[in-house]
Amino acid sequence: MGKVLIIGAGGVGTVVAHKVAQNADVFTDILIASRTKEKCDAIVKAIGNPGIQTAQVDADKVDELVRLFNAFRPDIVINVALPYQDLTIMEACLQTGTNYLDTANYEPKDVAHFEYSWQWAYKQRFEEAGLTAILGCGFDPGVSGVYTAYAAKHHFDELQYLDIVDCNAGNHHKAFATNFNPEINIREITQNGRYYENGQWVTTRPLELHKALTYPNIGPRESYLLYHEELESLVKNFPTLRRARFWMTFGQEYLTHLRVIQDIGMASIQPIQYNGMEIVPLQFLKAVLPNPQDLGENYEGETSIGCRIRGLKDGKERTYYVYNNCSHQAAYKETGMQGVSYTTGVPAMIGAMMFLKGLWKRPGVWNVEEFDPDPFMEQLNKQGLPWHEVFDGDLEL
Ligand code: NDP
Repeated sequence: MGKVLIIGAGGVGTVVAHKVAQNADVFTDILIASRTKEKCDAIVKAIGNPGIQTAQVDADKVDELVRLFNAFRPDIVINVALPYQDLTIMEACLQTGTNYLDTANYEPKDVAHFEYSWQWAYKQRFEEAGLTAILGCGFDPGVSGVYTAYAAKHHFDELQYLDIVDCNAGNHHKAFATNFNPEINIREITQNGRYYENGQWVTTRPLELHKALTYPNIGPRESYLLYHEELESLVKNFPTLRRARFWMTFGQEYLTHLRVIQDIGMASIQPIQYNGMEIVPLQFLKAVLPNPQDLGENYEGETSIGCRIRGLKDGKERTYYVYNNCSHQAAYKETGMQGVSYTTGVPAMIGAMMFLKGLWKRPGVWNVEEFDPDPFMEQLNKQGLPWHEVFDGDLEL
């Protein structure tokens, strides 16, 4: 059905490659490209399909990307490198007539700040070129937006309150490790919290608001209010929302390590001089922390991510909770990666599948909740991320 180029050979890229290879009826030609070609070759070896091609590319450089795209001529690029590369890859897509999908919104390297405006600014150019760009198609952002669209389509006349709840109840048996790229992860959770209420954004201190929430098959876990990028697009696309928040669980041990890392200056993104060279403390820290890709083997437990929604149906108040639980061990057995990479990589593959099947094909730049959620929800059940629903239960929020 179509040719796919995967950029990035980290934890998420590995899962995307496995899932794309499993769906050979849709993805007929596959190329994995990243900064380090050996990592792409290792993925191909693990999958055991020598037909998958690999290449080296520096995705910060538009001209290198353009050369690669012109040589392979993909129908769609799945960008699972880092958020820093979003704009260069979108630029190369426009120059070569290639469609685009990613899992995280653009973030400049030198400012810990993310928002959609940089990528939404490409809307007209993608429209005029007849190309589709699908933004934020991992789990959260990604499935969280599809769940919300599905709730709006099937279960509510008016969405009013949305809480996205993200629990990782896994144990990787390391004193401290992040589940995806440590630099991006630590930048995200050390920022101020932010949520939307009555048409305004409310800012909190980092991790200031927290409460215990009960997760299915897991039990109560302390959950912290964070700002998360999908809130920005969801309140725009579902304007009846009166409040939208995002919660994530952290263990005490994790938070203690994080506090020390910040207190001693290791979370800083300001370059410093060290032995005559310039280094960024957070990037140095990434180099000494466990690689998220190596956590899978001893990872036990599961993740549970979902949307808790309150609103109106037929004039009456209703609550709705839709979620997925994903076992780290099952993810590892299938792809060699832990559950956080798995829950991100599977939806990225499904988004590209939606595009190639013509179901999510619309010139412009879109967030996932702007497409029909039904075929995507169907694939979640088939591709390893089954979902469950609770109607009119206690949302705790
Ligand atoms: P990793 O750090 O494991 O992998 C990133 C990959 O991108 C590496 O292979 C890296 O190369 C490559 N890369 C980095 N810079 C460049 C460059 N300039 N040119 C080419 N390749 C480059 O990250 P993850 O796999 O954990 O995460 C991937 C993406 O997924 C991130 O954007 C992250 O924010 C997003 N994500 C989204 C989630 C969601 O639910 N929506 C959840 C989790 C992650 P090298 O190996 O040489 O360093």
